[in-house]
Amino acid sequence: RTVYVNGDYLPENEAKVSIFDRSFLFADGVYEVTSVLDGKLIDFNGHMTRLARSLSELGFTYKADIDELLEIHRELVKRNDITEGLVYLQISRGSAGDRDFAIKDDTPATVVLFTQSKSLIKSPLAERGQKILTYPDVRWRRSDIKTVQLLYASLLKTEAAAKGADDAWMVLDGYVTEGSSNNAYIVTQDNVIVTRQLSNDILHGITRKAVLKCAEELQLKVEERLFTVDEVYAAKEAFSTSASAFVCPVAEVDGKKIGDGTPGPIAKRLREIYIEANRATAI
Ligand code: PMP
Repeated sequence: RTVYVNGDYLPENEAKVSIFDRSFLFADGVYEVTSVLDGKLIDFNGHMTRLARSLSELGFTYKADIDELLEIHRELVKRNDITEGLVYLQISRGSAGDRDFAIKDDTPATVVLFTQSKSLIKSPLAERGQKILTYPDVRWRRSDIKTVQLLYASLLKTEAAAKGADDAWMVLDGYVTEGSSNNAYIVTQDNVIVTRQLSNDILHGITRKAVLKCAEELQLKVEERLFTVDEVYAAKEAFSTSASAFVCPVAEVDGKKIGDGTPGPIAKRLREIYIEANRATAI
């Protein structure tokens, strides 16, 4: 696999980053994951807009050059012959050559990209529906910034898997925030799609925005508001969204069937429409 590090395209085993890199020592880095369908990038501009926001919220002096990043994404897709899969982009604040909590503003950023070939449209998980377990959300209260500080999400996902589930949804003060790496939704008994409103407590999903637009076009009712775990148990349907899993139906939460325990019609329809619409506008 060919990867990209700070201006160079290299075989993955030759790519190097300093052990003093702040993303390694302090999780001082941000990232984006963009899907590839038919060799083209899905909602690339959406991801770059959020990247710019993450960088600015953390006070990075590095400013993303979107045209240059697009060129690198495309070059890696080409070199690695990716027709379906992902491009991962990480920008770290770089290294001051030693370990220091205080941030020096003259460290040049470390820019790393790599690809993953992966079947996205055909998904056994989407076909059977996810099993979800709920856990407290104990992350720092800036979950809107897409940092590489993913340890809690990673531990939860591992714990859920050890208990035979597929993923974890997090709960803050009695209300669902989001999934370990996706946004969370329910469909109420009267067919209203409910998802938590944007705030510092969730990632502002690029797929969330696109899927809410699809829902609007299908004239489905949407409410962006808090919802409880009891509302999840009582829902007609549930699903999650992310760039890599698109819309992924939920079959079961905490051992309780959602609806009849199979993917619901609204989630399935949104998955189809989302893929169709975003495939058509991929670049
Ligand atoms: N929430 C969290 C915590 C995530 O990690 C992700 C995916 N990185 C999402 C939501 C979904 O965001 P997107 O649709 O932009 O992939």
